[in-house]
Amino acid sequence: MSDKSSRRQFIDRSFRIIGFLGIGGAAGVLTKRASSSAVYQIDPFKCTSCDLCRTSCVLSLSAVKAVNDFEKCGYCMLCPAYMDVNSRPDEKGIPTGKVCPQDALKRRVVGRVDLEDPNNNYYEYAIDETRCDGCGKCVKACLPPAGNGSLRLEIRYTRCVECNECAIRVVCPDDAIVRVPVPGMAPTADSSEREKA
Ligand code: SF4
Ligand code: SF4
Ligand code: SF4
Repeated sequence: MSDKSSRRQFIDRSFRIIGFLGIGGAAGVLTKRASSSAVYQIDPFKCTSCDLCRTSCVLSLSAVKAVNDFEKCGYCMLCPAYMDVNSRPDEKGIPTGKVCPQDALKRRVVGRVDLEDPNNNYYEYAIDETRCDGCGKCVKACLPPAGNGSLRLEIRYTRCVECNECAIRVVCPDDAIVRVPVPGMAPTADSSEREKA
């Protein structure tokens, strides 16, 4: 896959992410807040989950949250982003510690439930955004080969106040905060800056 097409996919995906939030709601919030036709978002191809999104957002609880791409997630019982695989195992050999310091990663069994053997079950992992502070620990733990890389960090548009200059963008060591088009508006030179890079 060419660099350009993967970048195109990122921008396309940012629309799908907004779809996850509810296109009407998120687009309305964005149209009201955005001073231009573009908004800040995290480029998952550049972000290294360095923890500065947690500490640098102007909001007391960062507008950056982990999100799980359910199409990529393996629905694993022994999820390395959920369980601290180095923690003490219980009597069944399952690690007792969790990766998330905020207990923001929640899981539930989906599909047919095997009560005898939990290894046969599928688990859906979702983020409680009222707790997540965007530290990125789960994102790092989900990286291959341990996980499928289904977790990533995102600026959530229902929370971001669209600062003139994103405080995270100023400090980001990986230049991973980029401008993407507001949904429903055509990309402009400003919003397409990634395309040029
Ligand atoms: S500051 Fe940049 S590299 Fe660090 S977590 Fe945020 S977007 Fe990722
Ligand atoms: S980003 Fe940090 S706070 Fe949010 S779910 Fe992941 S580990 Fe928990
Ligand atoms: S624009 Fe402001 S509120 Fe939004 S993520 Fe950046 S620093 Fe936080």
